[in-house]
Amino acid sequence: MHTDLVAALDIGGTKIAGALVDGHGRILLRAQRPTPAKEDGGTVMRAVEDVIGELAVSPLWSRATALGIGSAGPVDASAGTVSPVNVPGWRGYPLVERASEAAGGLPVELIGDGVAITAAEHWQGAARGHDNALCMVVSTGVGGGLVLNGQLHAGPTGNAGHIGHISVDLDGDLCPCGSRGCVERIASGPNIARRALEEGWRPGPGGDASAAAVAEAARAGDPVAVASFERAAQALAAGIAATATLVEIDIAVIGGGVGKAGDVLFAPLRRALDDYATLSFVRRLTVAPALMGTDAGLVGAAAAALTRRPRTAGAHV
Ligand SMILES: [Zn+2]
Repeated sequence: MHTDLVAALDIGGTKIAGALVDGHGRILLRAQRPTPAKEDGGTVMRAVEDVIGELAVSPLWSRATALGIGSAGPVDASAGTVSPVNVPGWRGYPLVERASEAAGGLPVELIGDGVAITAAEHWQGAARGHDNALCMVVSTGVGGGLVLNGQLHAGPTGNAGHIGHISVDLDGDLCPCGSRGCVERIASGPNIARRALEEGWRPGPGGDASAAAVAEAARAGDPVAVASFERAAQALAAGIAATATLVEIDIAVIGGGVGKAGDVLFAPLRRALDDYATLSFVRRLTVAPALMGTDAGLVGAAAAALTRRPRTAGAHV
């Protein structure tokens, strides 16, 4: 990657983070606003414009060559629009056009947040040096992205690698996406907690009923908590094994709050992978915790902007 600066935005349901990032992935300047997620689309956009405006007053801004955006999905990179589930004011919202205007006409590279985190892990994190990788975020939801043949594979709309909504239980519970038995429906933090509560686990005196509290109980040996993580691990393993069998990834990186559970998740996950990743060419598949912290979305959006290639005729900016 060359050493010009790029501007980066990480747009989620709670905050809009922005940064100027150099060619080594160093964040030189930051700006942030809460996401007015319940407001109309124009109000949300004004928060984005505020973040860009705060970056643009810096003397560094003149060195920015592009703007990378990682956004909560779904996104449509080919149309330049976003429809984040948790931001109802944005449906088919023309974010690329509006953000480019706010950024003085800079070219914009839009990717989904799972793809952004994958770009960051591949550039500087746990997937570094791996030409074929799946990176996942397991938290409130389950997202992901793919690196294939050494390149980020965002897919035509920027959503490729959406492993959270692969079905691993044909007759399983309905998922909010409309399908059944999705990885997310079994392995997300809220579903780990829900399952533990349904099976009789009870939070401690503080009343914390989060997946992190279930993880703590599992570490202390609570069998219901252990079982809930084992079930989540099984769903993740089935999804990872399917991905590896299809496209021959050799590493799956897992981040997000649930990814921080440590051995409570990774020990049963490695066992379950033995059950599901069975063909000779996927036997060497490894899993590893993510290394990038809370800046992963920004760094990944910057990586996408730094490696952007000219679009073919007819495609968006
Ligand atoms: Zn689903």
